[in-house]
Amino acid sequence: MNNIRCHSCAKELPEGSLKYVVEVKSFADFGGFLEDYSGDVESGMVELLKDLEDIDQKTLEDDVYQEAVFILCKICRDKFYKNLLDTSIPAGMDREIKDTIH
Ligand SMILES: [Zn+2]
Repeated sequence: MNNIRCHSCAKELPEGSLKYVVEVKSFADFGGFLEDYSGDVESGMVELLKDLEDIDQKTLEDDVYQEAVFILCKICRDKFYKNLLDTSIPAGMDREIKDTIH
């Protein structure tokens, strides 16, 4: 029995139905970190490593790299793309804004 559900709205997605796999990867770009450091690069590195020792491993990994895979129905996939770079607006907010305009 195949019980795949949309990870966003929980709608059942029977085998053979249209569904989308969305992979999200984000990683920190450290470019320029050491170039901007005013002191000796080597001691800057030592300082950075010292700071990192105080952060727990899981937090550190999440700060540097995150990966997630979602299975979405078409409606949720479309919503996802619409809101992709505007994380300040929670899902459903666009409808509320339209309602206040009328
Ligand atoms: Zn959905």
